[in-house]
Amino acid sequence: MFGNGVKLTKIFGIELWIDYSWLIVFILVMWSLASGYFPHEYPGLGKTTYWIMGAVSAILLFVCVLLHELSHSYVAQKSGIAVPKITLFIFGGVAQISEEPRSAKTEFNIAIAGPICSFMLAVIFWILAKSDFASDDKRLFAVFNYLAFINIALVVFNMIPGFPLDGGRILRAYLWNRWQDVKKATYIVSQIGSRFGIALMLLGLVSIFFGNLIGGIWFIFIGLFLNQAASSGYQMTILRDVLSGAKVKNIMTSNVISVPESLSLNDLVQNYFYHYLFVSFPVVSDGGQLVGMISIKQVKDLPKDSWHEKKVGDIMVKAPEIPVLSPDDEALSALNLLMRNELGRIPIVDTGKLVGIITRRDIMTFLMIKSDLGV
Ligand SMILES: [Zn+2]
Repeated sequence: MFGNGVKLTKIFGIELWIDYSWLIVFILVMWSLASGYFPHEYPGLGKTTYWIMGAVSAILLFVCVLLHELSHSYVAQKSGIAVPKITLFIFGGVAQISEEPRSAKTEFNIAIAGPICSFMLAVIFWILAKSDFASDDKRLFAVFNYLAFINIALVVFNMIPGFPLDGGRILRAYLWNRWQDVKKATYIVSQIGSRFGIALMLLGLVSIFFGNLIGGIWFIFIGLFLNQAASSGYQMTILRDVLSGAKVKNIMTSNVISVPESLSLNDLVQNYFYHYLFVSFPVVSDGGQLVGMISIKQVKDLPKDSWHEKKVGDIMVKAPEIPVLSPDDEALSALNLLMRNELGRIPIVDTGKLVGIITRRDIMTFLMIKSDLGV
């Protein structure tokens, strides 16, 4: 459902994306304001005026949600956690925070930043609504008043103490600090989060029963989304807990199949891709140094009749651009890297030499063995 969109711009090194599903919200908000709320609350303005007010409000709402996410991201980056991307999608915004906070205090600071931002925006719009130039113009007053109200609504909704909402993260930080047990704290707030999701779905069913079809479907979808996010958030915490303490060298595969730079693409396809069924291979020099990576993606973009004359070294991704890990890095960093970059395999390098490779499958196998043995 998600994952298609357009990149708007880059702020503080964070890419801002709009998922196409966000257009649905935009149109719904604009339409319900222009044809329902504004004409009902502020009668006597023209039809075109209502639509312009609706569009302006929807765009400003978009900016408010973006600022909310940016404030989470800003604090995360200040705490040393990278935020590569913010995406606005059908249920609001998500800042793609590259790893979970490592302390309760960091978690609290990141979580509280969003609601504080939305609250400040509500105050600003409320002051604007009460200002002189808005009191002369009903249209301005209506838009400012609506934005003050919607930002307060954002604060209230986000402060519900169920994971993954901000309130859930704040409660988790509090319990985590109190119990010194992040797993238990996450379990509690995930339970609250998923029950809140179920309650929203029931509310949706009741709304549909009483004739509010669109509102009801909306509640059901948000409920489903929250319910799912709550349980996957808990699974992620368990995963991190099991992996913590393990090193890359405990998990990596040591005898790596690598290829030389001088190999022709024909040979690569016939004797490596078809033979070993991996989607990428590390490229090493005669001395065993990692010089690059070659993947199916680079090969398939080239016409087949050029495969016999081109060599691996011509089209590989060169070493400085490849993310690598060292054998003594934490296994958690490998997981973070694999997830953040959607990489299939990460080469493990010790003083420039290729000593292993790590894949998602390696991590899964490690987790399975550890959980089978009940450690
Ligand atoms: Zn938030």
